[in-house]
Amino acid sequence: MSNYVSEWSLTRRKVFTNCARRFSIKYLTNNIQKTREYSAPRWRSPYDVMIISTREVFFQWLKDLHNNVIWTGKTIYSNLRFKIITNLYKFNSQNTEGIKPDKDRLISNGYARLKTLLRQPLIRKLSSGEIREWSFHERTGVVTFGHLQVYCSPDIVFRTANKWHLVRLNFQAERKQPYLDLELCTMLLWSKGNQYMPNLESKFTIYGIFFLDGKWYQRRVIPSQRMLQETKQLLEKDVHHMNVLRDYFYRTSNIDTLPLTKSPMYCKRCPYKTNCPVFGDRQDDFNKP
Ligand code: SF4
Repeated sequence: MSNYVSEWSLTRRKVFTNCARRFSIKYLTNNIQKTREYSAPRWRSPYDVMIISTREVFFQWLKDLHNNVIWTGKTIYSNLRFKIITNLYKFNSQNTEGIKPDKDRLISNGYARLKTLLRQPLIRKLSSGEIREWSFHERTGVVTFGHLQVYCSPDIVFRTANKWHLVRLNFQAERKQPYLDLELCTMLLWSKGNQYMPNLESKFTIYGIFFLDGKWYQRRVIPSQRMLQETKQLLEKDVHHMNVLRDYFYRTSNIDTLPLTKSPMYCKRCPYKTNCPVFGDRQDDFNKP
């Protein structure tokens, strides 16, 4: 049995709100159960591989930009192509349900996504040198907040005059984002664990840059003490609900009685499709193109 859930991240939150079964297999079962009973946990759909790869290449680009190494369009394309092809192998996506992924389509989709991101006004200010003081971060560092371990670092941090700006990028946003502002405000918790950052909400501006329906959007939030309070409550509530699910899961010991997603699209990219009851009960819905 796994311990009580004490970790929060945006990915966990999204999986939890979309499908209890998927969340339970990913975060509540141990690895032995995973490999024995469910499909390979390292599998990713080709579309997800494209998103992961595009993000990775963007960070390579950022790293080089930070070292004053400028990429041409050709460099971007060849790096992305290489990353997508190697990640398709890494995530066992070379042959998904007997269908070979259309690599050219994935590469051109990722390339278009990356090129438009580089034209996004805030990112342009970085590449043109207009913003001079900046850094980038991988979301691997954890912040302890009370009894919770929170993964909430920004992707990019920059400073202008006496203001700090925290930026998070989302390479594939969901259409409905009712808690977007509070989710973005979790970056403030990261700043509180950083000794070089000020301890005042008024010193920060927060940005979410996200891709949806073929376009990049930017959301700007001026945080307040109240928002920070609501953000902490959101984390507490999320982790509480995850533990309620955990208790239920261990009481029933049956993963297939857990609530399933309502979205057929979400299932298409799920690594735990094998043996999922959704393909029994709602086969027709889920086979629609
Ligand atoms: S296939 Fe769909 S319903 Fe089944 S676990 Fe995955 S997301 Fe949930």
